[in-house]
Amino acid sequence: MGDYFQTIVDLDATEQEAGELAAHVLDRLIAEGIVRAERTDCVLGGSGHGHAPGPHYAHAVDEPEPVDLLWANGLDITTGRTVFDSGQGEPGAATCPLCATETRFHDDEWALDDEAWRPFSHSFDDWAEGGEGTIRCPSCDRTSGIDRWSWEDDYFACGRLGLTFWNWAELTGEFEERVRRHLGGHRTVTLYGKL
Ligand SMILES: [Zn+2]
Repeated sequence: MGDYFQTIVDLDATEQEAGELAAHVLDRLIAEGIVRAERTDCVLGGSGHGHAPGPHYAHAVDEPEPVDLLWANGLDITTGRTVFDSGQGEPGAATCPLCATETRFHDDEWALDDEAWRPFSHSFDDWAEGGEGTIRCPSCDRTSGIDRWSWEDDYFACGRLGLTFWNWAELTGEFEERVRRHLGGHRTVTLYGKL
């Protein structure tokens, strides 16, 4: 058995506003009783410290389970330029923001096509280090930033602010909508993963 996580990634937050937005959304979630104010040892990755479920955590999820039984059950907030990923498995396909054509990274036997994947991997590294992360689309031959591509099953997302919930039941659409409002109406994607 592994540990599951869901990460709501803000696609619009800038480097400058990420810290303030993170503090605002955390304040709201504490006020709503979704998470606790104090930081405790309850998340994996990052600093290892996060916010455990609050008294009304069940309002955020479908079919709440007794997460108190699990050690890793908190909210971890990440700020700063980050390539968020789903942890396990391989990326399936990515869609170009300019021509909407999909690039697949696997052959029929589901083996990773290194040649197709390598330039994307380099662009992620470049973007994460503060570069443009430009990538040339194999289909239309035009370049764009890797942060503008979309990924099959939301496998990756580039952002400056992410909220990772460890081992929570599936977050409801209504809760995600509320988080988007707290983020000033920014676009978000939600990644599902397992460690
Ligand atoms: Zn293209």
